[in-house]
Amino acid sequence: MKLVKTIPEVRAEVDRARSSGRSIGLVPTMGFLHEGHLSLVDRCRELAGYVVMSIYVNPLQFGPSEDFDEYPRALERDLALADERGVDLVFAPDDRELYPNELTVTVAPRRLADRLCGLSRPGHFEGVLTVVGKLFGIVQPDLAVFGQKDFQQAVLIQKMATDLDMPVSIEVAPTVREADGIAMSSRNEYLSADQRRRALSLSRGLAEAVRSFRSGERDAAKIRSGVLSTMEAAGGVEIEYVEVISAGELEPLEQVDADTVVVVAARIGTTRLIDNVRLGKPDPGLGRLG
Ligand code: AMP
Repeated sequence: MKLVKTIPEVRAEVDRARSSGRSIGLVPTMGFLHEGHLSLVDRCRELAGYVVMSIYVNPLQFGPSEDFDEYPRALERDLALADERGVDLVFAPDDRELYPNELTVTVAPRRLADRLCGLSRPGHFEGVLTVVGKLFGIVQPDLAVFGQKDFQQAVLIQKMATDLDMPVSIEVAPTVREADGIAMSSRNEYLSADQRRRALSLSRGLAEAVRSFRSGERDAAKIRSGVLSTMEAAGGVEIEYVEVISAGELEPLEQVDADTVVVVAARIGTTRLIDNVRLGKPDPGLGRLG
């Protein structure tokens, strides 16, 4: 595995791989890798001949009062994990490499970004799409893999690639969970043991939604209130939203079907966590709970 920190080096390595006939896959991350990130690498290796992982904590997607400074970083450990998992190239730029000048152009999402996470994180998705758009421009991958864990983000990235005619196919891989059901996240690192127990209420709430769907419930309001009461029962969980939405347009629904997605966001202490499930196709960890 090779580590590079500049754009010309990425381009040289990717050109070499492409001219040897390999297709290029990209897995963008902010590092502090866990099994969720590494599952994206596995998926990418199935689909592409050459796997590029970017590791960059993107300041543009953090609000002024958010956790940019505290966000956990562990590049040496990340490199060992990525290497073990078969990544071919890691691109770990610094801020000057990616943002040498103040940007005059960004990728600003319209509808779909002003709801759910967009409500409490204004500008967040603009920051995400801008950096992902830059990474697409730098690496020029044939495909890129994102996690279902960040559902709204994955949908917006798919829309960006379609709307801006970017020649990259977007693959969305299932959420990887700890044995007890909690979705893996670099931010789980912030939780105390007590908060970690309360954080389980997100996946428990979603498992309740799956259980209810499987037993025949189709009324979105009833499914939503089951999730809310499961989450409230944990105590110490400040619920930001629980929504029952369509997978394509993120529209709130009255009736659910197998493609409907239940999305949740909550704060536990100062840590903000998100999770989601597709009712008819829960990822393995939730299916077991459900
Ligand atoms: P991050 O480092 O948090 O920006 O995440 C990088 C990529 O990993 C994004 O596409 C995330 O959706 C994905 N990801 C994060 N956590 C998980 C998880 N538990 N399961 C699957 N993918 C994940």
